[in-house]
Amino acid sequence: MSIRLHNNLTRCVEEFSPLDPGRVTMYVCGPTVYHHVHIGNARPYVVFGLLARLLRRVYGAEHVVYARNVTDVDDKINAAALAAGVPIDAITGRYTAAFREDMQKLGADVPDVEPHATAHIAEIIAMCEKLIANGHAYAVEGHVLFDVTSCPQYGQLSRRSVEDMIAGARVEVAPYKKNPADFVLWKPSTSELPGWESPWGRGRPGWHIECSAMAAAHLGATIDIHAGGNDLMFPHHENEIAQSTCANRRQFARYWLHNGMLTFDGRKMSKSLGNVLQLHELLRRHPPEVLRYLLLRAHYRQPLDWSDETLKQARATLDGWYGVLRDLADVEAADGDVPASIEAALCDDLNTPQAFAELAKLADEARRAVSTAEKRNAKATLLAGGELLGLLREDPERWFRGGEKVEESEIESLLDQRRAARTARDFKRADEIRDRLAAMGIAIEDGPQGTRWKVVER
Ligand code: AMP
Ligand code: ZN
Repeated sequence: MSIRLHNNLTRCVEEFSPLDPGRVTMYVCGPTVYHHVHIGNARPYVVFGLLARLLRRVYGAEHVVYARNVTDVDDKINAAALAAGVPIDAITGRYTAAFREDMQKLGADVPDVEPHATAHIAEIIAMCEKLIANGHAYAVEGHVLFDVTSCPQYGQLSRRSVEDMIAGARVEVAPYKKNPADFVLWKPSTSELPGWESPWGRGRPGWHIECSAMAAAHLGATIDIHAGGNDLMFPHHENEIAQSTCANRRQFARYWLHNGMLTFDGRKMSKSLGNVLQLHELLRRHPPEVLRYLLLRAHYRQPLDWSDETLKQARATLDGWYGVLRDLADVEAADGDVPASIEAALCDDLNTPQAFAELAKLADEARRAVSTAEKRNAKATLLAGGELLGLLREDPERWFRGGEKVEESEIESLLDQRRAARTARDFKRADEIRDRLAAMGIAIEDGPQGTRWKVVER
């Protein structure tokens, strides 16, 4: 099945055709590890992780190289380390581990390589030297700056002219710059800041050159797909293109993909606005599949508004699908492959809303299945569709019981007491027990097969 992707270079949906189908390459800008990530930060890693999954399925896992870097040297990290009175690697080590744990819980696909900027200082310095030698950069007062006037295609991704950038004040004015739009490749470090020896004195890299150097080191001069949030399009991705193209004299990334922003109360979720919901906190309160479903529910290019209401709806949708699987618990699933309708939806520029509509249809079919053969096939297809989307991987009974966290023995004991009270026709006592369970966030449902319970809130 061929994949079609919206390429932001052309602003069109195009047929994806890798340069070498034997080595399909994708680079996704990774986190800056100075804090816990928020749920918005997770969107690119869940979305483009799903793309990596699809590429691995279509081209074979051994033919795909997915790189997601870790930005472990940055002024925000320096500020956090100074504030805590510890070296930067104490901060970056802690938050890299926390990030990996959060991603694993969300089912975000693991990259093939996870390069760290601090492990690529030699490549960064070499790239700066090459750019200076090629006439695209200049050294001044311990800085190395990229000369934007040397790069005629500068602005091609974000479709801005250098004049627009200056007029929009999106650039930092500094006395040592030839042009206000020139950006930093290398900057000097004072003795209390992390730094590395370089031809321009002790210093540290700028953020943009880190990604250019890591992408080239692990994927080559030209890569197939480069992705990240659309807030990175300018200046970060524009600058990556300028650096890589001018240093390597080849096209840098052939397809540029950007996810829309996750908003909260209508505004972009971001640390600087102070409206963040930390992912590790959300993971404590909600099943990871609910969060994953919500992150994928909107098309990746659209904005995605987060609210308690959407969380409730997501939970209800998954409860519906898990309910079907619970009713089929005694049916052994047949051997099933991924449903073509779901794969086709994903191949159409990662159309996850369509993929979920198809999954809902499969759940309906499974609900309506009558014969054992129908049930076995329907269960298999539903599970296989869920698997591709990273959902429906839990045991249905456990899902409704809220995973391991609920003290099942306590609930069972209360249900026994309620049964005994009802047998003794002590309905007041039975109702009291029901209320007590409700206060614990447990809803019960009396049916022909006895009393079932589920966690409604945790
Ligand atoms: P940062 O660590 O700030 O560089 O962000 C890591 C990734 O999260 C980048 O790809 C950003 O584009 C992305 N990102 C940041 N905020 C949001 C948001 N509110 N919604 C979606 N993606 C975001
Ligand atoms: Zn980057």
